[in-house]
Amino acid sequence: MGNSFSYYFPYFENELYCEKISLKKIAEEIGTPFYVYSKNAILNKINQYKKAFQSYPTLICYAVKSNSNLSILEIFRENGLGIDIVSGGELYRGLKAGFDPKKIVYAGVGKTDRELADAVKADILSFNVESLMELDVIDQIAGSLGKKANISIRINPDVDPKTHPYISTGLRESKFGIDMEDAIKAYEIAIKKKNLNVVGIHCHIGSQIMDVSPYREAVEKTVELVFRLKKIGIELKHIDIGGGLGIKYRPDDRPPEPEDLAQAVIPLVKEIGLKLLVEPGRSLIGEAGALISQVIFLKDKGKKHFIIIDSGMNDLLRPAVYNAYHHILPVIKSGKKVVADIVGPICETGDFFAVDREIDDLQRGDYLAVMSAGAYGFSMSSNYNTRPRAAEVLVDGNEYFVIRERESYDYIIEPEIKALQKTSGEVK
Ligand SMILES: *Cc1c(COP(=O)(O)O)cnc(C)c1O
Repeated sequence: MGNSFSYYFPYFENELYCEKISLKKIAEEIGTPFYVYSKNAILNKINQYKKAFQSYPTLICYAVKSNSNLSILEIFRENGLGIDIVSGGELYRGLKAGFDPKKIVYAGVGKTDRELADAVKADILSFNVESLMELDVIDQIAGSLGKKANISIRINPDVDPKTHPYISTGLRESKFGIDMEDAIKAYEIAIKKKNLNVVGIHCHIGSQIMDVSPYREAVEKTVELVFRLKKIGIELKHIDIGGGLGIKYRPDDRPPEPEDLAQAVIPLVKEIGLKLLVEPGRSLIGEAGALISQVIFLKDKGKKHFIIIDSGMNDLLRPAVYNAYHHILPVIKSGKKVVADIVGPICETGDFFAVDREIDDLQRGDYLAVMSAGAYGFSMSSNYNTRPRAAEVLVDGNEYFVIRERESYDYIIEPEIKALQKTSGEVK
């Protein structure tokens, strides 16, 4: 298998497959747009992470927000991973997917009382606490439930992950974590709280990180802090270094491998002997997924050639929000090339997938694949323009499974219909 871009999306006789299934066949059977994920690509990443960290006691916690489909979560659970969650909704999903609460860590600057109470009741492995006020509130909520909550302080190591500013989270001016110089004080406050167990330390510096040196810097600082805590009698059980490893979006991208990350951080963490947690999201699922779409119209305007497709920014927000590059492959290669803007149908100029891109000369009705869309693709999608969210498909060898049906119009308007029935009692 394999082509120049992705091993799990090979071309056979100029036709793009996911593993051993023709994407054209799936498109003809279920319609477009749909997200497709290669199960074996996911398993391969899981194994890369496991192998990389096998020499050191490590829990890999998949970051649910990157792709929260229950069938995807099940793959991670079956393979022994935990999860990193950032909301009560993700806790709900995680528990539904059968994850052991002792493998769930929960970060986020704004956890509501209800979200906190649900997670306290579930007895999760760790709340990754991002402010002094949050410490107080968790203590109160745990007390009122007659429970003890496990907490770690999320520190902000003030390192630059050299990625897009919207996904840089470890710089001092960002809203995340507690600054290094305030962290000791936060731990001193935390250990005095009756309803808290202080179990760990957490940092997460950003996403789509293409070089392991910022990790080394962040983990060095974190380990130093653990030593200082030890000196004043505060002993921790684990160190959680967050997620953020980058993936290949452009053909010439060479992101670090889990092995590179492990080699950079394990020697540092070994010095303190704490259990290690990592929270990869994008790097476990991103390259395993693609968004398959169909060409609706072609249009020439001035010097520009537009290819208008049936997916929009509601399906894949990354180009609009991060100005992100996604590689785009024709499902059937024609061999002839054009330079085109590939755009969606939505009434926003930000609704684009590619600008001035050299691509096969696609015609009305042809299919194309937007690659590396497995992470922050479906999970960031919306119903903007009352567009049903796309179907999701999981491929395993020569079989495929619809793991989320395409939404219907009725499904989208149902909550409003209920309201209408209450007020006027009439619906057409
Ligand atoms: C988003 C997030 C992650 C995952 O980041 P990726 O770039 O998808 O690996 C991990 N930990 C926390 C706290 C996060 O917010």
